[in-house]
Amino acid sequence: MNESWISCEEVVEHLLDYLHRELDGDASAEIERHLERCHDCFSRAEFERKLRERVAKSGRQEAPERLRRRVKEMIERF
Ligand SMILES: [Zn+2]
Repeated sequence: MNESWISCEEVVEHLLDYLHRELDGDASAEIERHLERCHDCFSRAEFERKLRERVAKSGRQEAPERLRRRVKEMIERF
């Protein structure tokens, strides 16, 4: 194999940039290639991805609270 093969340390270092899609195409392709073959880094990437999803979801849970407050304000106006 002549392919360059980035190390796990490099993947970990750039993982968040990769998940935020802040890497250029070549760099993110190299990380994807590594993730396809390295189970450790793949699980780490999945963990980070799920964590980000959960944070995004919990952000949306603020909406009902805001809605409730708006409804309360409307009721108090009567
Ligand atoms: Zn790895």
